[in-house]
Amino acid sequence: AEREALASWSGPGATADGRPVKILANVADGESARSASGAPVEGVGLFRTELCFLNRSEEPSVEEQAGIYGEVLAAFGDGRYVVVRTLDAGSDKPVAFATHEGEENPALGVRGLRLSFDNPGLLDRQLDAVAAAAKETGTEAWVMAPMVATVAEAEDFAAGVRARGLKAGVMVEVPSAALLAHRMLEAVDFLSIGTNDLTQYTMAADRMASDLAHLTDPWQPAVLQLVAITAEAGRNAGKPVGVCGEAAADPLLACVLVGMGITSLSMAAAAVRPVGAKLAGVTHQQCEEAAEAALAAADPVAARDAARAVLG
Ligand code: PEP
Ligand code: MG
Repeated sequence: AEREALASWSGPGATADGRPVKILANVADGESARSASGAPVEGVGLFRTELCFLNRSEEPSVEEQAGIYGEVLAAFGDGRYVVVRTLDAGSDKPVAFATHEGEENPALGVRGLRLSFDNPGLLDRQLDAVAAAAKETGTEAWVMAPMVATVAEAEDFAAGVRARGLKAGVMVEVPSAALLAHRMLEAVDFLSIGTNDLTQYTMAADRMASDLAHLTDPWQPAVLQLVAITAEAGRNAGKPVGVCGEAAADPLLACVLVGMGITSLSMAAAAVRPVGAKLAGVTHQQCEEAAEAALAAADPVAARDAARAVLG
């Protein structure tokens, strides 16, 4: 029966009792966007713009950037929307024209939005390019910043995005942002939880260190608590809170996230059908019960087992 559900699921995302959950794709460039646009997704929840520039030594002009972003937006020009993430250069994604060299701790250094502190033009030019691409293609673009740690950062970023007529959000990747989610939501239109980095920074464990995999597990109770805090803030504010990290691609965990109040799940295209089919086979109440059980568990293994006992 499970295999049948997988084969027949064709979106849009919803629980068995009809609670809508947006299923979105993570993309890296025009090619991956065109490929993902054939999947049963309502849009793109994470366009990692830095991946377009890993081999570039010079910053591309606004016109060239607009062309690159326009390819992704055009692939979803049929009424769907695209969440564009501004440059997340630094640490595990070095971009030659943006990354600060010689940092002792690059993961804790000048990366993501922090690059705009001493180089605001870099962000301004990227926002100009996204706005131009949105105008050119007619596709709705939301824009979000990575590695946001303070409410003031969210306010400054949102001002720049809204001045260009676009919806503004921030990623929740740093525990401070999760703890202050309710205040972040006063500044922005939406939040998107990056569980890869949120896990890394909550557990103080390098996401690239395979010998720390038991710590860099999004089922860790502390990570689940921070996700739940963020989702609850979204419910109270009546604003969308999505997840775009690897956690959204795990069908069981995706249901737990929905039970916490997460409104969208963004993932690699390959995960869309397994997640969509799993969600379509469980009720929203089951998701809530699974979330409650996972949050009460003592460790990641117990959390997964508790969720599976409810969700099957
Ligand atoms: C994340 O940190 O979960 C995320 C989605 O961003 P990236 O994996 O690109 O750091
Ligand atoms: Mg991240």
